Amino acid sequence: MASPAKQDQRTSRKRVAVVGAGVSGLAAAYKLKAHGFNVTVLEADGRAGGKLRSVSYNGLIWDEGANTMTESEPEVQCLFDDLGLREKQQFPISQSKRYIVRNGLPVLVPTDPITLIKSNILSTKSKFQIILEPFLWKKYNTSKVSEDDTDESVGGFFQRHFGKEVVDYLIDPIVAGTSAGDPDSLSMSHSFPELWNIEKRFGSILAGLVLSKLSTKKENRGVRNGTTGKRKPTRGSFSFQNGMQTLTDTLSKELGEDVLKLRSEVLSLSYNAGKSASQNWSLTYSSDRNSKNLIADADAVIMTAPVCNVREMKFMKGGIPFPLNFLPEVAYMPLSVMITTFRKESVKRPLEGFGVLVPSLEQQNGLRTLGTLFSSMMFPNRASNDEYLYTTFIGGSRNRELAKSSTDELKQIVTSDLRQLLGVEGEPTFVNHFYWSKAFPLYGRNYDSVMKAIETMEKSLPGFFYAGNHRDGLSVGKSIASGCKAADLVISYLESSTDQPCAE
Ligand code: FAD
Repeated sequence: MASPAKQDQRTSRKRVAVVGAGVSGLAAAYKLKAHGFNVTVLEADGRAGGKLRSVSYNGLIWDEGANTMTESEPEVQCLFDDLGLREKQQFPISQSKRYIVRNGLPVLVPTDPITLIKSNILSTKSKFQIILEPFLWKKYNTSKVSEDDTDESVGGFFQRHFGKEVVDYLIDPIVAGTSAGDPDSLSMSHSFPELWNIEKRFGSILAGLVLSKLSTKKENRGVRNGTTGKRKPTRGSFSFQNGMQTLTDTLSKELGEDVLKLRSEVLSLSYNAGKSASQNWSLTYSSDRNSKNLIADADAVIMTAPVCNVREMKFMKGGIPFPLNFLPEVAYMPLSVMITTFRKESVKRPLEGFGVLVPSLEQQNGLRTLGTLFSSMMFPNRASNDEYLYTTFIGGSRNRELAKSSTDELKQIVTSDLRQLLGVEGEPTFVNHFYWSKAFPLYGRNYDSVMKAIETMEKSLPGFFYAGNHRDGLSVGKSIASGCKAADLVISYLESSTDQPCAE
């Protein structure tokens, strides 16, 4: 066996290329660097962060990508502790107050059975259907599907458990607000894998949630008794003092300029099997500092670029092309993010809380946006004391064309919706528009084929690992966890092949 010092020397010589400096790629690179590997992150854009994008301008702070995140994943907790990010975390004021529109007006979303009974968000019939779900839920009718039962839609699943009104007035706005998708197009097993598995285990969702909570409590008691060192996750959503990009900025700073190469778009990847897992990969990337394309050699690759970008890259294996024709096209959701500010005296019915979501059915009441976050209500440092800053989302699968509208058109749409929902008067004092042509990949009902193709790539190309929001979930937390898991796989892949001495 190699001595620890020798083992360390070999490990530090191992090179890993990470493609993409979104939160998943940066988290993976951070973990690999901390392990002693020689890491290079290649990022096509002129900035790191990917879908985390915060702006500070004229006393205002806003996010054009993700606005908040949670830390349910243990990988996120470890990363925050390591990076010393806890003191920069910012928790929203009154985050449990969230609104959904019904009959053209915002209604507080109930958070417990008593407020649900009192609330006018659902009819009495639906309230009973929720309470009696452990006895009334229906099994999935597999005879209705042609291939396998993993492709049930989100809408179909929740309708079996809670009825159509719950889908229309709770599930539809929630999935539009978190993925810009719609309940009929989204696959349940890929969009809500935890609930999908709860049904498989317990049948009823409500009973399953209660039972799994009880077993988690038992486990936590074990933790407190000192059996494991796992930290209890902080509840709820949060951001950081200067917006979500604080997270990726901190990671980028830790990695340093030598590791993180911006404006470096990966064009092709070539794998040539050697005697060991040493320097089998070579990546060609463009660089604006140099008219010629550059080459990075690596022992392993973590790919975090979206699947649509991977499809454009050229892959070679053993000197011959490795065509990616088995990698299906992914559908993407276009989205416009509008930032508006209004003087406080111009907002006649301001609401305290997180924000308001608009169900598709409320389009019949003249509302055209997907939802609005009350950004400066949540985080008062986001605007001056005499104004409110709002973040509104438009487009998604509900209204793809509208997402592409001009800033002027979108300003009218947002102002009209906020007039109806919050009583704003006059024009916004500030407007900013950011358009994402591919904000979210759609975890559609054929998403299994994408996952299988990713697995095929990994099996066919030793030392190639895929991570990010196209694989393990859309949220920031899940993207971080995905990057960290890929880093762990790289570590065991490269360490299992360190027995062969590496070429100098
Ligand atoms: P990305 O951030 O997409 O990073 C991939 C990187 O790869 C990019 O930087 C890209 O430039 C780079 N790349 C592409 N091609 C190449 C190439 N050829 N060579 C080199 N680099 C390449 N999540 C939440 O949890 N909470 C929210 O509130 C929330 N809100 C959101 C709001 C919006 C508007 C959007 C768009 C997303 C939101 N999300 C939210 C989702 C979340 O932000 C993303 O899923 C997550 O940040 C994705 O991280 P990633 O690293 O997997 O991918």
